[in-house]
Amino acid sequence: MQYRSTRGNIKNTLNSAQAVIQGLAPDGGLYVPVAFPHPDVDLAQLSNLSYQELAQVILSWFFDDFTDEQLTTIVNQAYGDQWEDDAIAPVSAQHDGNYYLELFHGPTLAFKDIALQVLPRLMTKAVTLEHVGKDIIILTATSGDTGSASMHGFSDQANTQVIVFYPAGGVSPVQLKQMLSLRGQNLTAIAIEGNFDDAQTKVKEIFNNHDFGHRLAVNGYQFSSANSMNIGRLIPQIVYYFAAYGQLVQRHAITVGDQVNFAVPTGNFGDILAGYYAQQLGLPIKHLICASNKNNVLTDFFKTGTYDRQRPFYLTNAPAMDILVSSNLERLLFDYYQGDADAVTELMDHLTQSGHYTVTAEVHDQLAQTFPAGFATEAEVRAEIKRLYDQTGYLIDPHTAVASHVTHQYQQATNDQTPTVIIATASPAKFPETVLTALNGQAPTTTGLAAIQTLFDQLGQPLSPNVQSLFDQTPRPEQTIATNEMEAKIAQLLKLDD
Ligand SMILES: *Cc1c(COP(=O)(O)O)cnc(C)c1O
Repeated sequence: MQYRSTRGNIKNTLNSAQAVIQGLAPDGGLYVPVAFPHPDVDLAQLSNLSYQELAQVILSWFFDDFTDEQLTTIVNQAYGDQWEDDAIAPVSAQHDGNYYLELFHGPTLAFKDIALQVLPRLMTKAVTLEHVGKDIIILTATSGDTGSASMHGFSDQANTQVIVFYPAGGVSPVQLKQMLSLRGQNLTAIAIEGNFDDAQTKVKEIFNNHDFGHRLAVNGYQFSSANSMNIGRLIPQIVYYFAAYGQLVQRHAITVGDQVNFAVPTGNFGDILAGYYAQQLGLPIKHLICASNKNNVLTDFFKTGTYDRQRPFYLTNAPAMDILVSSNLERLLFDYYQGDADAVTELMDHLTQSGHYTVTAEVHDQLAQTFPAGFATEAEVRAEIKRLYDQTGYLIDPHTAVASHVTHQYQQATNDQTPTVIIATASPAKFPETVLTALNGQAPTTTGLAAIQTLFDQLGQPLSPNVQSLFDQTPRPEQTIATNEMEAKIAQLLKLDD
């Protein structure tokens, strides 16, 4: 299986191990399979597999540089007892007509664990297979969830180091506690004076600084990325779509071959793109409902065919979806433009230079058939959390509430009766302030861990083990630096010679 860039010549290819190590293509594009796999998918048989077995099968379709034995080891370690639920990604009972696919039973209580427990292990193996001979430095800017999930995934992985930059005062108390508490010889998290975009811009600049790259190389290091543009993060996310389908078959909610809808709380478009890949592999998905918060650039895109990032940026109560440039959409466009890298490059250049682009009417029509889209305001998020809890006793987090709200809106407007799975991307315990505000109609007097305690006391429920572990950790003191000190900080951490 060879990979190519969405913006590059089809003749420039990498194998899967190289694509995982590279992360992002040098031309700014994203790696995609040269020939998308078309395995013989026996849904009845796949429905009987454990999550680990299913992951092994699906990863082997894309990562054929790794032996079956290597993949088995990787998935067994990635989906071991750091998960609170044996199903890894359990589907809830029906609540108000829909199912919820819970992706938050991993160590950092949000869905990024699903991919970030696999990617580090793939990368460590890839480094050996490719005889890289250098340590991989994962440089990450985070607004919260990616930071703690990558630190957890890479913790003590051989030949890797993780350096996370986050905006000082810009992540939630729980996220901060997670990042400052994670132990591991190879992990560092540093606050920067600035917002997430400042951190992200500077990280990209350091990444693309040729001189600094050279300095790293002579010291035995190489940068890579753990963000959702890495193909090693995207592919593991395909697995839970099949796993959800299998669970519905097993409990006779559907029969093999029936169509289902998935509703996805969307930010960088990684999660929902994995659903599209699952559909391309033969999973009978009718609609992928694209749910946004008030940063509704994707809602407008699917409605009009114009992607326009020139608009105000809002910080919302579903912060992991506060994003105006959804990077993984580029992979979808690449498919809908039938692999025409020149067309994709033109659209992306237009976005960089003018802040917007418009797809052809034909592409827009085709997209609209698979991707209904909608958004929820902050008040609608709170109302949805309360409505669902009051009516069914099922508690969801703000990101899940975005998708739940949009799904109900869609179902009312279309009367689509297809069984629908709403993807639950975070535990309500991770965002206790918003959840308490929603339930009680006023903000709690507590924040962070104290708010988690308030929430669980109010619910009369015990803390789950992974939530409890938050209370047992002692955070390191926070280090804060200016953005123009980031490069020097990296050099100092890695003890680089000049
Ligand atoms: C990252 C994240 C999302 C958005 O997922 P994308 O793959 O970026 O679209 C949604 N919810 C939560 C809780 C997240 O952490």
